[in-house]
Amino acid sequence: MRTITDIQHIAVIGAGVMGRGIALAAALAGYKATLYDIHAQTLEQSAQYFEKFLSDSVSRGKMDAATKVSIIGHLHLTQDLADLKADFIVEAILENLELKQKVLREVEVINADDAIIASNTSTIPITRIGAGLQHPGRLIGMHFFNPAPIMKLVEVISGAATEVWVSDVTFALAQKMGKTAVHAQDEPGFIVNRVARHFYLESLKVLEERGADHETIDRVMENVGFKMGPFKLMDLIGVETNHEVTKSLYEAFFHDEKFRPSRVQQKKVDAGHFGRKSGRGFYSYDK
Ligand code: NAD
Repeated sequence: MRTITDIQHIAVIGAGVMGRGIALAAALAGYKATLYDIHAQTLEQSAQYFEKFLSDSVSRGKMDAATKVSIIGHLHLTQDLADLKADFIVEAILENLELKQKVLREVEVINADDAIIASNTSTIPITRIGAGLQHPGRLIGMHFFNPAPIMKLVEVISGAATEVWVSDVTFALAQKMGKTAVHAQDEPGFIVNRVARHFYLESLKVLEERGADHETIDRVMENVGFKMGPFKLMDLIGVETNHEVTKSLYEAFFHDEKFRPSRVQQKKVDAGHFGRKSGRGFYSYDK
């Protein structure tokens, strides 16, 4: 059993949109952060992301140059699974139950029995992920939002087997990272993704029915008070990730019509138009 003061080293599995942001958020809070991915190119992109984020912070006067050097020193990039031996591990790989369970089983065996393992899943129940692990008691959901170093909210989700001390340490860790932590029930999509699904799906329906084009829908929603329109947000999240989240919720709610995935979005995914990360989604971007 660990307490928050035992947490010194955080390892993150998956260096995509979320994993690199979570590793940076951990380093910004003073933790040693190890970021692992199977793809070298993703790690290189993560290093560029760290450099850009921190340089921008320095040029905007939010951070001094010495702090930047110190934070870079806290961040370690690796393709070696053995480096994932840590006090607290956050999984941020693709939204796929079997893959998450497979990778987490490998991570379990190299770590102490009381190292905490958190999943950043958007929709998959923690109880279900834990069912494939050796020690489901130390598995928890720790759901960050994109971009992770900036967005304040973190949903903390206990599965049926999650031990209370694991939840307490995770909640405290989120707070130490400067986040607003909330406990959410282990229901598909937790709170935010379940509610937000309709923001995306109804917008996609309006587009499909030619009610308005995507730019107009974004502009209208932004004018009514949303910080970002649904199509800009899907491009930021990753169109394919957002689609996977919808498919996962649709399955989890036994094909409830209101969560039916969008064919317009499927077409975007088929075309490789994933959003900012691929240079094209609903909008085009300079890569
Ligand atoms: P992503 O596609 O950007 O990144 C996934 C990363 O996982 C890739 O870099 C890939 O190389 C890596 N990966 C795949 N298989 C791996 C393996 N076996 N071992 C190690 N790395 C592996 O996806 P993302 O958007 O960062 O999403 C990751 C998780 O976070 C998902 O569960 C998603 O639902 C969740 N999430 C996403 C967002 C978002 O806005 N994108 C927000 C909150 C939560």
